[in-house]
Amino acid sequence: MSTSDENKYERHAKKCPECMTYIPVDANVCPVCKKRVGKATESGMARKATDWMSYIMLIISWAALAVYIWWAFLR
Ligand SMILES: [Zn+2]
Repeated sequence: MSTSDENKYERHAKKCPECMTYIPVDANVCPVCKKRVGKATESGMARKATDWMSYIMLIISWAALAVYIWWAFLR
């Protein structure tokens, strides 16, 4: 179970995934590091706001790697 110190923040604050600071539970932007944050999970940690740009870039980089492997070895 969690410690009493963690219980104190339950429902009132969530933890910023970027800077690990407790921020208001309804905050959409961390006031400390200015990063966008999502809703709090059951563990009190804020979800990272969906970062579609880096998600798409990840897919593109994997696709580029796959094409490179095909081009370099399987042609
Ligand atoms: Zn933060």
